[in-house]
Amino acid sequence: MPYRLIAIKADERRWWEETGDWLGPLDAAVDLNKRLQTWRMKPLDPGIPFLVSWGRLVGGNFIGVHRAVAVFRSPQTGALHVSAMGGAAYRFMRTGVNGLVIIGKFNKPTLILIGSKAGKLSVEFQEVDLDRLWGYGGRTGIESAKQFLLDNYWDFIYEHKARPIVTGPGAASTIMGAIASYEVDYAKKAYKLGAEDFAARAGGGSALVRGHNVAAMLLGGDSEVGGPKMGDIDKIFIQKLGKTYIQVLNEKTIKYRFDPQLGTGGTFGVNYVHYRELIPMFNFQSIYLPLEERRKWSDAAIEHFWKPFQEEAFVKSRSWYNCGEPCPVVCKKVWRGKKIDYEPLNAVGPYIGVFTLGSAVKVADMVDNYGLDTIEVGYDLGLAFEAVDRGLIEPEEAGLSGRPVMNPLVYDVSSSELNASLAEEGVRSLMSGVGLLGRIGAIGLRRAAEEAGVVDYAVYVPLGDSNYMTPNYYWAPGMVAPIYMLGRYWTNYNPTFMDPVDFAKSVYSRALMELMIDEAGACRFHRGWLEPTLKEVYGLVGVDVDVDKFAAAVYREFADYAQKAGSTPRFWESKRTRDMVTTMASELGAKDWAGKDPLEWYEKFKTAFDGLVYGGPNR
Ligand code: SF4
Repeated sequence: MPYRLIAIKADERRWWEETGDWLGPLDAAVDLNKRLQTWRMKPLDPGIPFLVSWGRLVGGNFIGVHRAVAVFRSPQTGALHVSAMGGAAYRFMRTGVNGLVIIGKFNKPTLILIGSKAGKLSVEFQEVDLDRLWGYGGRTGIESAKQFLLDNYWDFIYEHKARPIVTGPGAASTIMGAIASYEVDYAKKAYKLGAEDFAARAGGGSALVRGHNVAAMLLGGDSEVGGPKMGDIDKIFIQKLGKTYIQVLNEKTIKYRFDPQLGTGGTFGVNYVHYRELIPMFNFQSIYLPLEERRKWSDAAIEHFWKPFQEEAFVKSRSWYNCGEPCPVVCKKVWRGKKIDYEPLNAVGPYIGVFTLGSAVKVADMVDNYGLDTIEVGYDLGLAFEAVDRGLIEPEEAGLSGRPVMNPLVYDVSSSELNASLAEEGVRSLMSGVGLLGRIGAIGLRRAAEEAGVVDYAVYVPLGDSNYMTPNYYWAPGMVAPIYMLGRYWTNYNPTFMDPVDFAKSVYSRALMELMIDEAGACRFHRGWLEPTLKEVYGLVGVDVDVDKFAAAVYREFADYAQKAGSTPRFWESKRTRDMVTTMASELGAKDWAGKDPLEWYEKFKTAFDGLVYGGPNR
């Protein structure tokens, strides 16, 4: 079966169906970019395709395979990036196609409506005033856009059971704008609690709005989408793993639903009690603290940050929701109406010296509503806060009106309120171009840190001359290692320190598997059952794929693209990033590497990793 994409030529306001023998979103995007040689263009060039599509496992009884996957050229990394939204394809697949790709730029900001009715596909383009979209009905930002769509496009939404993709004003004014999608409650003309997801990393929203003038989309329809049935699925699982599909799924997703051993669940619930003193805090200054000091801050995080969530989301009630597809893992844990995930909340929580959950949630709400990448914003605020706290720059130079408390040696939890209110101010500065934070919003953390002379306190991986990526919040060398898809989990992100050659092997094998999870449009919380059965699972939809060979070839394409675009990893130019690696060596007693210049480890890793990437089989 060919993979079918709606191809939209935005500047000509026309569309057609583009087909290929692609397996899924990643090889489709790589192929289209290759044909157009888009590495020759600047990252926000309208000629670069923006693809949103889903995998081939949708529509049947498989669970957790309905992610909408965006692949775009990132204005942050300068290379191709992959980012996904859980559950969205559960609605989008009913358009009857496998996805869409946008090339060119609409003259004016535009809303795209894609619907299928009784076998007929319709694609409409409607101009939309951005001030109205992001300032409607007394609301602002993404909340406004959501309501605007409900009020003005309800007939389309209801008739097609459509689900939106929206952006916020951060997409128009920064390079770190996200795209987001929300499940609609069609009976109540409202959005479902917790059933939302952001594809936030690396500026996909910025690429969509600034590169193509697309501010929002609605996708849905009534196409029947057949897929594997439970009887056939069970046969595979019983044969291969000795248990039914649901038995295996329940075992493998326990962390994300409820882990009885820990008495909690979801990434936020589990990580604070699992990683404890390894959780990055205070702009990663936590890595310099002795163990007992880190324990103190870990205890504080558990007491003030984790416990209020635990009480309300696990003890008093079970406010657990899914992302929009009927998934029993219900990983979306909601606290007072807010979906709570580890990464974004740590970003605007302990990472910036905010240990009270309510204060961090206020900042997270604000960042989400601007449609920004909260993980990135945490690093941006962390740098600005520390630079001011150390007296390297004045508050007004950072875009702040006061001095945050970021030194863990003098910090007190009571400073949370101050830091949170300065964070809100800092986010406004980031949006409006004020001070260091404003520069970060406009040109990114790396270049802005260079301009301000504070590179050594910024945490990022340099890519090419001016691009970069910030890591997810794990104190783990794999998060900053020189690989070709950063800011995601295409790596070994365990807090570990290994010989660089062995580590390269383990990172590479994880990268290939994570790539295949994205290629399948699968939720990575379901990777535990999908990875060992990928070949057989694809067999059920009539696809014969050599998983390792295919993944190696697609990964190499991503690496090739980064090479041609001049955006490959460089040695860590910031001391904080280097220290993140060397302190992990000391923490784990890796005597050969502790306290050493990490350049040798870096180079050995890079040589070994590139050897694996370029020595692998062809597709
Ligand atoms: S684990 Fe969560 S995000 Fe993944 S499919 Fe289930 S509900 Fe959706």
